[in-house]
Amino acid sequence: MPARPPATCYLVGAGPGDPGLVTLRAKACIGKADVILYDHLVNPAILGWAREGAEVRYVGKTAGYHTLPQAEIGRTIVEHARAGRTVVRLKGGDPFVFGRGGEEAQQLAAAGIPFEVVPGVSSAIAGPAYAGIPVTHRDCNTVLTIFTGHEDPTKETNVLDLAKIAGADGTKVMLMGVGRLREIADGLVAHGAAPSTPVALVRRATTPRQETLVGTLADIADKAGEAGFEPPAVCVIGEVVALRDSLAWFERRPLAGKRIAITRTRHQAGALGDALRALGADAFEMPVIRIEPPADLREFAELVKDAHTYQWILFTSPNGVDAFFGWFYKLYHDARSIGGARIAAIGPGTAQRVMDHHLAVDLVPQQHTSEGLVEAFRKQAESLENEMVLWVRADGARDVIARELDQMGAILDEAIAYRTVPETDDVCGGLQRFRDEGADVITFTSSSTVECFLALKLPLPDATPVASTGSARGTTAASCPPTVQRPPGRVRSASGRGPAAAQRRSSACQRPSC
Ligand code: SAH
Repeated sequence: MPARPPATCYLVGAGPGDPGLVTLRAKACIGKADVILYDHLVNPAILGWAREGAEVRYVGKTAGYHTLPQAEIGRTIVEHARAGRTVVRLKGGDPFVFGRGGEEAQQLAAAGIPFEVVPGVSSAIAGPAYAGIPVTHRDCNTVLTIFTGHEDPTKETNVLDLAKIAGADGTKVMLMGVGRLREIADGLVAHGAAPSTPVALVRRATTPRQETLVGTLADIADKAGEAGFEPPAVCVIGEVVALRDSLAWFERRPLAGKRIAITRTRHQAGALGDALRALGADAFEMPVIRIEPPADLREFAELVKDAHTYQWILFTSPNGVDAFFGWFYKLYHDARSIGGARIAAIGPGTAQRVMDHHLAVDLVPQQHTSEGLVEAFRKQAESLENEMVLWVRADGARDVIARELDQMGAILDEAIAYRTVPETDDVCGGLQRFRDEGADVITFTSSSTVECFLALKLPLPDATPVASTGSARGTTAASCPPTVQRPPGRVRSASGRGPAAAQRRSSACQRPSC
């Protein structure tokens, strides 16, 4: 049998940190790889693009500490490729800019392994750009020099020719230089560079934790020492640094530098996190709740089946909408089976989730709370006398709605769509991060997130601001809410539905398609 040809190894640039700066080609390679070997400065978030079952292995090195020696990395790639496994060798920035990608490509060529190079956005360019420093500008320079300061102390040879670098025109960008900043800045001045030459150090560039320190060749080392400035950082030297005064766009975004903890479920945190990150926040997910099916799923399903018999269907959370339509479309194959019920939603997020099903929402209160919803009902109709209302809700939700709608004469059935339980896994590491670093703001989007957060007994400095949506507001006082007793009335829980509800329950929708 002929020997199997080796698989391809892709030497892929992962960009400087911001996942949005990864190329489409890199993303496609990550998605199809059998094995991914990644380095220290690769943002682990992009590893989420790997396919299920791919082997994802860290082989990075920080100064002085190598997880896997370079030669061993090369051998590992060759082994995998020869066994027919597609390998992605993922490197920070661009693989051929001070990343030893050139050496790895040579090893592959020598071993006869097919390889492709996927260039990446280098921190040498992107770091300054995110600090508001164009590395070239017609008014300042025509030359750009990129050099390494070899901050890796294990490196024996020093090939830096500071005289040549000092003599070059234009902007100089140094990578791996924080450890030898004083030596290099002094060396450049000793070789003729003006001590007043502007210098910027950009740390964790393009990430929400980016920090920039500005000085001159004469004082940058002192300033970095005082500030405890640590690698990794890009160092830009030259007149272009001054342009930052007017161009520092990234660090001037409204929420720049703010650490924001998001407590909603893992499933839901994405959209809020993305929106906050777009405003510059360092938003991290710390899910404290998880959504589980209701204790009595059969009962819920029955109420969903009867939805067409109600005059109003009331949704108080996007989860409720999801659970409702999840069942609805198991039972019916025609959206019209929902009948003529009008639909109310507690807030725009919940309303949007309903509209995603191509159904209009008739009532959304201005104030997105239970009280706001009741108020909106009052304005809409003086009385709900004998109107049948189906409230799709979470187990244990606040009962203002039940009490008030009852007073307005409604006959209310409550469909318990889901239970909210405390999240016990710290899958994304957010809880640990919160314990270690705290947050500038915590967001709560439901009273259950508040309750579960409090139950975790995490340290919460008094001054920590809390941001909450309407439905969580009633509970954001630093204690769990008291259980409110519901007055006796015409309100019926799902399990205790009375004759009126039972009558309506008699049939499923009679549309032919049902
Ligand atoms: N191939 C990479 C560079 C690898 S050398 C590239 O093209 O970007 C590693 C050095 O790159 C670090 O010591 C630091 O100087 C710089 N670097 C990489 N990512 C960085 C980041 N997000 N912020 C600041 N510096 C970074």
